[in-house]
Amino acid sequence: MITGTSKNLGVIGYPIIHSLSPAMQNSAIDAAGLDAVYIAMEVSPEELTAAVKGLRATGFIGWNVTIPHKTAIIPLLDEVDENARAIGAVNTVVNRGGKLIGYNTDIIGFCDGLHEKGVSLKGKPAVVLGAGGAARAVLQGLMLEGAASITIGVRNPQKAASITKDMPLKVPVQIVDWDSEDMNSALKDTAILVNTTPLGMAPKTEGIPPVDWGVLSPSAFVYDIIYTPAETRFLKEAKSHGHDTQNGVPMLVGQGAAALSMWLDTKPDRTAMRKALEAALLAKEKAQA
Ligand code: NAP
Repeated sequence: MITGTSKNLGVIGYPIIHSLSPAMQNSAIDAAGLDAVYIAMEVSPEELTAAVKGLRATGFIGWNVTIPHKTAIIPLLDEVDENARAIGAVNTVVNRGGKLIGYNTDIIGFCDGLHEKGVSLKGKPAVVLGAGGAARAVLQGLMLEGAASITIGVRNPQKAASITKDMPLKVPVQIVDWDSEDMNSALKDTAILVNTTPLGMAPKTEGIPPVDWGVLSPSAFVYDIIYTPAETRFLKEAKSHGHDTQNGVPMLVGQGAAALSMWLDTKPDRTAMRKALEAALLAKEKAQA
């Protein structure tokens, strides 16, 4: 029940009506019996400064930040954590006694997906497909996990060049055309292949990034950060070639759980969050059909 003492949480974005976060976060709040509520707030780019001022003034204890505000919000905060600064994107704000601190829990969520499957990347090479916003979080996650080198395969290497210019890199990172021989050399030795492109995401489930499965190291772990459908064509193909796989659901749950634990100092019930997320995804699929 929402009362006068309930702590306020939410997500800002534009548009926001399709956000799955309210269902997922309120399920964890309910499961833990916490006195808090999480709502979706539509904030246009023109109103971002006013909205942040308002959330601070009304004492919101924290909020998530989604497209298109993840970078624009940075100068409006009092402090930004090192990992969020490295990728130039904040997806979680924590209000600590009036001080607004920005974090990026997509990085944590991505790593959760690896830990869930017992994958260790220490000292090993990695390959990432795509170089957009999510790829930056994945890149940072791979570096935190100790990957020795990273190859980014894209359709347009020139366009992707900013990713390596903007981010502080702890290991060698090369950007290659995903139809090139360089790509095949990287696939041959890699310990992991991660898809961060939207190819294969619902409703265009026929999409798949180009991978020569005959070349990919047989022991490579294959990770698709897409969460709808739960099994993309990319993951189906990987499984049929004998690879262990992970989808984007644990990353989505993990980023939400990490945010909630920072706001409410709690250990969120991930099973409840996952169930609520899956129900919300199903409802979304039915609405689209
Ligand atoms: P984004 O910033 O638009 O970047 C997409 C990347 O994919 C770019 O490198 C883009 O290349 C490439 N790409 C897009 N369409 C392509 C196509 N038709 N052919 C080849 N390359 C294509 O998107 P994003 O925010 O990174 O999100 C990417 C995916 O990650 C989405 O499916 C999203 O749902 C998922 N995601 C999942 C989670 C999670 O928690 N599981 C979190 C964040 C994102 P160009 O620059 O050449 O267009």
